[in-house]
Amino acid sequence: MRLKPQVHLPRHITKWFPAAIWRIPEEDKKVVYLTFDDGPIPSVTPWVLKLLKENDIKATFFCVGENVFRYPEIFEQIVEDGHAVGNHTYHHIQGLKSENVSYFKDIEQANHLIGSNLFRPPHGWLKRSQYHFISQKYRIIMWDVISCDYNQNITKEEVLNNVLKYSRPGSIITFHDSLKAEGHLRYALPKAIAELKKQGYEFRKIEFPKERRLFNPVHRQRLQKLRQTIRQVRRWA
Ligand SMILES: [Zn+2]
Repeated sequence: MRLKPQVHLPRHITKWFPAAIWRIPEEDKKVVYLTFDDGPIPSVTPWVLKLLKENDIKATFFCVGENVFRYPEIFEQIVEDGHAVGNHTYHHIQGLKSENVSYFKDIEQANHLIGSNLFRPPHGWLKRSQYHFISQKYRIIMWDVISCDYNQNITKEEVLNNVLKYSRPGSIITFHDSLKAEGHLRYALPKAIAELKKQGYEFRKIEFPKERRLFNPVHRQRLQKLRQTIRQVRRWA
């Protein structure tokens, strides 16, 4: 069932998850959606945030709960900079290898810290039963183009080429703010941004649809407090 990662997914796979979002095309609009998985971490995420700020780009970060717990200040920076955030489970666990209840609990544990109705499954795969359950509460965001920046068997030039070759209007493009991807990312991301800009692309974050927003302002304040508490506890530790 585990498939080899492909830059561009074939249609029969996207059909397997019909309510998931793979691409957001809009008529006559050259828009792409940059997404970053697996952060936040100190050695990569602040660098990505700086680059995005310099280019006036808003993106979407699919965060791992335990990284948010470790680095709440970086997570807050992502939100403060105006980017969207999504849930990428607490322990970065694979749906296919997990029993449903523990998988859902892991997602909820992450949600206590992240507070988003966007979800992206680690490794991109879910059981059908998990997919149906999760999509009742979350908007499942997959991708149209995966840079394969984490793949050490390809060169940084190939990573850049993956992005430039397959991006098209509406593409959701996936990079990773992770240690594994760092080398490739630092090379490919600035060049991909520059080239896509040159081609006339606009960059957007994936918006939280209002009708499915899970958290009202009171909940958001509580979440902020929780993250503040974690920061304090970590300072004392
Ligand atoms: Zn991941």
